[in-house]
Amino acid sequence: MSQRWISERMHQIDASGIRKVFDLAANMTNPVNLSIGQPHFDTPEPIKAAFKNAIDQGYNAYSQTQGIKPLLERLQKEIDDSYHHDDRKVFVSSGTSGALMLALCALVNPGDEVIVFDPWFVMYKHLTTLAGGKVVEIDTYPDFQIDLDKVRSAVTERTKVILFNSPSNPTGSVASVEAVKGLADLAAEKDIALISDEIYHQFCYEKEFVSPARFNDQTIVIDGFSKSHSMTGHRVGYCHGPQFLIQQMLKLQQFTFVCAPHPAQWAALKACDVDMSAEVEQYRQKRDFMLAELEDYDIRGSDGAFYLFVKAPWGTGTEFVAEAIARNLLIIPGSVFSSRDTHFRLSYAAEQDTLERGVEILKEMRNHKK
Ligand code: PMP
Repeated sequence: MSQRWISERMHQIDASGIRKVFDLAANMTNPVNLSIGQPHFDTPEPIKAAFKNAIDQGYNAYSQTQGIKPLLERLQKEIDDSYHHDDRKVFVSSGTSGALMLALCALVNPGDEVIVFDPWFVMYKHLTTLAGGKVVEIDTYPDFQIDLDKVRSAVTERTKVILFNSPSNPTGSVASVEAVKGLADLAAEKDIALISDEIYHQFCYEKEFVSPARFNDQTIVIDGFSKSHSMTGHRVGYCHGPQFLIQQMLKLQQFTFVCAPHPAQWAALKACDVDMSAEVEQYRQKRDFMLAELEDYDIRGSDGAFYLFVKAPWGTGTEFVAEAIARNLLIIPGSVFSSRDTHFRLSYAAEQDTLERGVEILKEMRNHKK
């Protein structure tokens, strides 16, 4: 093996931030873990049963690339009932991540610009690089709301995509209807592809979730079952948008992922009938608990998903996290998700006693600089 084997694009994908956290965390025994990016409860029983049953029924071969018919029909009906767009078609992808990769590869030419909002979900940068594009960051500090004027002035002739995520990972912020509409209108006016990552759409605690697809019928919506039904390992997502683009994405899915895992698609079909509102309510309560306990911290966003993006009360985000890890609390420095190193992300998708232990450590750390 020689370095020559490794492609240029891999050198451009820099995963050092998250690796440093794993290195720091490697020596922790039984940490108070508030770093997890998925629900803390197991996949609901009926979904697990549907998966097992699908295997027993022999659904173990490839499915059609676009997904199994009953799931497609179910999703398409829900989408048609919500949007009434003649040209909006859905397909089943290998997780939300799979659909994100296909969308960016189908849209981005080398040198094209992809607008993302800082702080961003880690994958956006790397997938844009993979597609040969260039990320253009729009700063959303300190309140993590979208400033449309900033977006407008960031648009150039090379802008191909706006990649939008509400509720957001890592901030938990939910965009206002005005911002969502403004973004949708701007994308239409400038002929820019608007990708809306809606994987946390069920987790909205203050206001109703609004998709930009409501205002722009060309919006590419990416969603999935990973978070809503705690099925991150099943790898089932879906994507809907204008038919001509969906066809291009399917062409690439055929020759990359081939299909989403077949038995997991039957599990996802069952998930469509499993009500998760009690779990969402639980997360609202956990969020309320954390916000009340951490009232001395500067926390903005936090209206959705299951993350808090907290300003470090002293030092950089990285310094603060290093001290938290020394005290056995695992959280993630904001620099993993941002050009700034001023915050940390914590996930409240954890048992109550873990949250209580985490809060105690954070309260001690608040005033006691290392
Ligand atoms: N988008 C966002 C904003 C996420 O937080 C995640 C998971 N952490 C994903 C996409 C990917 O989810 P999936 O498991 O469906 O690939």
